[in-house]
This record gives sequence, structure tokens and C-alpha cells, in this order.
Amino acid sequence: NQGTGSWPARRARMTPERVALSYLGHDRTYRDLRDRTYRLASALSGLDVRRGDRVAFLGANQPSMVETFFAAGLLGAVFVPLNTRLATPELRYILEDADAKLLVRGEGRDGAGLPGEHIPPDAYDDLLGSGSPEPVDEPVGQDDVCLIMYTSGTTGRPKGAMLTHGNLTWNTVNLLVDVPFAHDEVTLVSAPLFHIAALAQTLIPTVLKGGRVVLEPSFDVERTFDLIASERVTVMFGVPSMFGFLARSPRWAGADLSSLRHLLCGGAPVPEPLIRTYQERGLTFLQGYGMTETAPGALFLGAEHSIDKAGTAGVPCFFSDVRLVTPDGSAAGPGEPGEVYVQGPNVMPGYWGRPEESAKVLSPDGWFRSGDVGVADEDGYVRISDRLNDVIISGGENVYPAEVESVLYGHEAVAECAVIGVPDDRWGEVGKALVVTRPGAKADPAELLAYLDGRLARFKIPKSLELVPELPKNAAGKLLKAPLRTLYGGSDD
Ligand code: ATP
Ligand code: MG
Repeated sequence: NQGTGSWPARRARMTPERVALSYLGHDRTYRDLRDRTYRLASALSGLDVRRGDRVAFLGANQPSMVETFFAAGLLGAVFVPLNTRLATPELRYILEDADAKLLVRGEGRDGAGLPGEHIPPDAYDDLLGSGSPEPVDEPVGQDDVCLIMYTSGTTGRPKGAMLTHGNLTWNTVNLLVDVPFAHDEVTLVSAPLFHIAALAQTLIPTVLKGGRVVLEPSFDVERTFDLIASERVTVMFGVPSMFGFLARSPRWAGADLSSLRHLLCGGAPVPEPLIRTYQERGLTFLQGYGMTETAPGALFLGAEHSIDKAGTAGVPCFFSDVRLVTPDGSAAGPGEPGEVYVQGPNVMPGYWGRPEESAKVLSPDGWFRSGDVGVADEDGYVRISDRLNDVIISGGENVYPAEVESVLYGHEAVAECAVIGVPDDRWGEVGKALVVTRPGAKADPAELLAYLDGRLARFKIPKSLELVPELPKNAAGKLLKAPLRTLYGGSDD
């Protein structure tokens, strides 16, 4: 078995006694993890789970989720993690779309109204106990699908990206080329494992190296500070909003962060003030850009350029290639925006059950169209500016909301902001800014707009600005622009 399902067993050959998982004060060694994944694989095969069958998991981060991922991989079955924050009809849609054979349920989300056969949390141990700890030996290869992971649904309905064992293996290689995970790494995994980053950028590489994963059901500021200090956490992944919550906490100034070695941050642009706030504590972000479809790493910004190339997501990962393509199909030059295309052994073979949509985003020679706009500087460092869908076309000029937002973030009263396009009789579309101010800060819309004057070309300055209490985000902390357009722009996309 060459798949990722075999990794706990491979690790246990070398370091059986080392702790693999710590969860709410309980430790599990690599030997335990191997035996339990074998048992679970044997039990699942007793429930008629065969190669290629989809095994869904619904629940917060917990050991049964990790075990189900590896056990499915041992059988050549396909793990389908579900986002616990989705509503029941959305979950039903995914379970039916994936045609799941079985739903393993953990703590953290009930299963009422969901179709198919369930293993409820209180039946999990019995199921595991019914299996044998003898090695499972299915011939699983790198090209076999390991995971169907649904995209975050930022731009529409989530799509099931099929990822192979090879995709995950190569992503791990890409990551470890630049982030020197050690054998004794202690990795805090509190971002949800149903998104690709937590799974592929932290859990899987830590298991490969034989480190210890400190698994948390969810992200919590207080717990994070406590765990970093008590477990001597060395690696943590987070989306920028998680790191923002930590930095704004009253505990930030006095927190013991001395154990941290690698802070991995990605999934959304990392605001430059946040980078500086961490830098002042001697902490450097390793930043990355990627997506579910590329398992996920595509661009990487290492520690040495974290400051001078701040605002970019770096250069392509070692075994991947990225190019920027203009609307007429030519290569974008330095400073020129283009759609980000990615090629490499980490790129998915397609969306599950969607040949037409797959053909739209994957060219025959293996280039994946991301739908994101990027701009490279003279050295090839790519700034991810926007989603193609979010670009505002005002009087024939393209306005990139991210550029306007980054200037707005320079105003001290701005905690969060979003710029969207709203219909306009004269210009076709004009920008509108929505701003959440910092607690206690006083700023009125006219003053904020005046701040942009002289800092941005006239056509880029939003025509209106509104102060709002909050901005809608999805479970991954990503700003959802479609609902903003509906609320403030009179669109219903
Ligand atoms: P959907 O495809 O369903 O609309 P999604 O694209 O948000 O959702 P993911 O695959 O989880 O789902 O996220 C990938 C996207 O996240 C990228 O296409 C990009 O827009 C954004 N992203 C990831 N990393 C960065 C980054 N470092 N800077 C800017 N944007 C990023
Ligand atoms: Mg996407």
C-alpha cells in the first residue's frame, strides 16, 4: 500500500513509542494509531466498504476523524470530510453528491435529517473493537483517489475536489522542502480538518515526520494561549483571522510563545500590519497560497522574505508551477494582473462527478485555472489580489478591490473592510466600501474616503462607504462577497 493510509504504520515501524496524537489530555502513540487504523479498516470492510467507496465524516476535529481518514486510505476507500458549520440541507446535498456509503459521526454536530447509514459517536468504539489489528493489505497506488474534499463555497456551491494519495504526498514534499519540520515537532491543529490546509499542511506532514499532533476540537483564543505554553507547541497553522484574534487578545502581551518555531498562515491574504505585529514578537509567518484543488500548496513565501515581500504569497512551491494569464491568453508581465494557473503533481484530477466543470478548469496539459487574479513583481513574487468574479469594472477600468482594501487597512480606525462593485448608471459599476471600525475608534465615512484621496487613482476610490457592524464570513474565516453584493449592491448572485 503506497497510499497515505499506510503512513501511521510506516511511522510505527520507526517510532512506535512516540506520541502521535494528544487530544484533551489523552495521548496516543504511533503504535496505537497504527493498530486503531488497522482495526477500523477491518471493521469498515466488515460493513462492506470497498475500494473506491466514499466514507463521510461529520464532526469537529477528534481522533476518530484522523483514524477514519487513514483507515479509508488503507482500504483504497475515499474519505469525505464534511463541514460542521453547514446547514442540514447543505450537508444532505454533499452526502448525496458524494454518494457516501457510510457516515461516521463524531462529537460536535448532530446527524438529524442526514441520509444513509450512520455510525453515531457512541457506536464508534464498538465498531473499532469489532475489527482486527492485523495489517490490512490493499494495493493502493499514488493515483488512487484518497479524498473528496468540498471547496469552501466562497464563490458558489461547494465542489468536490478529488485528491489522490499522490496529490497529498507531493504537497507534503512541497511543504517539507521549505518548512523544515523536525522529528520532535509539536503541531497544534485547531483549524478544521475538513478544510485542506489543516489536514495537508499540518496533520499529514507531522505524522510523516513522527511529531506529535495536539488536536483541538476547534479554535479558541484562550485555549490556544494555554496549549502553546503547556504543550510547548512548535508549529501552528491558521488563517489570518485566527492570528488576528490572538494578537488582539488581552493575553497577547504576556503570553509565553517561546516554543513556537513555524507559524503557517494562508487561505486568505495576510494583512501587513499583522505580519509586523508578529514580527515584533520575533515570530515570522510562513505564508502560502493555495486551494482545495491543489492539495493545497501552490505559492510559498519563506521566512527570509516574509517582510520585504510582505503582501505577496511568494513563489511557486518546488515541484509546482504557476503562471499568470491575461484575458487574451498571453503571459502577464511583471506588474500586470493575470489569472493564476497552477500545474504540478499536487493538482487534482478533477471534480467528483462533474466532467464539464472539471474540463472548464483543467486543460489537457494539466494546468488548473484558479479563478484568482495575481500580479507578479520583477522577482516573480506573486500578490494574490482578487477573485476574478470580484473585479470591479468601472468606466472600462478594472478596479481590484484588494488593492483598495489594503490602502483602507492603513487607516488606524479600520478593523475590517471589503470593497464590492455596485451597479451605476454612468460607469456601469462603481466601488462601494464596507468598513468595520476598531472598538472605540471614531471615523466617519467622509473622512475615510478622504483618506484614500491621493493614495489611490481617482477611478479606484469607492463612490460610497458605509460603516457596518460586521462582515459575513464562511467557516474558514473567508469574507463572503456574494452576500455583501446582495445586501448592499442590489445583486442576487
Ligand atoms: P469555492 O471554490 O467553493 O468558491 P474557496 O475557493 O474559498 O471556495 P478553498 O479551496 O478553501 O475554497 O480556498 C481557496 C481560495 O482561497 C483561493 O482560490 C484563493 O481565492 C483564497 N486564498 C488562499 N490562500 C490565499 C492567500 N494567501 N492570499 C489570498 N487568497 C488566498
Ligand atoms: Mg475555489
